[in-house]
Amino acid sequence: MLNIAIFGPPGAGKGTQSEFITSTYNLTYLATGDILRAEVASESKLGLEVKGIMAVGGLVSDEIVARIIEKNICKQEKDGFLFDGFPRTILQAYVLDGLLCNAHMKLDAVLSLEVPEDLLIDRLLKRSAIAHRDDDNYDTIKFRLEQYRSKTMPLISFFKEKGKLITIDGVGEISDITNRLKTAINSIK
Ligand code: AMP
Repeated sequence: MLNIAIFGPPGAGKGTQSEFITSTYNLTYLATGDILRAEVASESKLGLEVKGIMAVGGLVSDEIVARIIEKNICKQEKDGFLFDGFPRTILQAYVLDGLLCNAHMKLDAVLSLEVPEDLLIDRLLKRSAIAHRDDDNYDTIKFRLEQYRSKTMPLISFFKEKGKLITIDGVGEISDITNRLKTAINSIK
């Protein structure tokens, strides 16, 4: 069983790299952003609740995120989980720890993709032209990066202290970054 989280600011390439990781290591992909976007698209009760905050690039409440993870973590037909976009706050990290522990599992590693901010903005603006994500516009991108700095970045030292953090240079060709991730994952397997 291998449970890993891919971590980093918006635009770091988490989604892009996740495809390779999930298929190579046979992991169940759990991306809170994708799940929340599907809820918004289906206009479910939850979707309507989170639509406004997502549109401006704010973080959805820890309680809602915890509920989503709890619902999805019990389904495991593969060799482990890849968490993308979660945890994003210290509280979410504790929730994940508790849920995995209940299921007799643990988080093995957090792969942190490091990319300078000017490159992140560049990538996100380019993505907005192809992916049509409502939150990929300049003002929202700025706010999402600010939310990352204030609420999510503290997780870096949190996981470092727990000996779970592996930093990966997220700049360069997609295939080079993939190889760096592969080396890191093979070192913990
Ligand atoms: P992402 O696709 O990971 O960039 O997430 C898109 C948006 O979904 C974020 O800007 C947040 O509004 C929301 N979101 C996704 N994951 C989380 C999370 N773990 N905690 C709080 N909000 C989240």
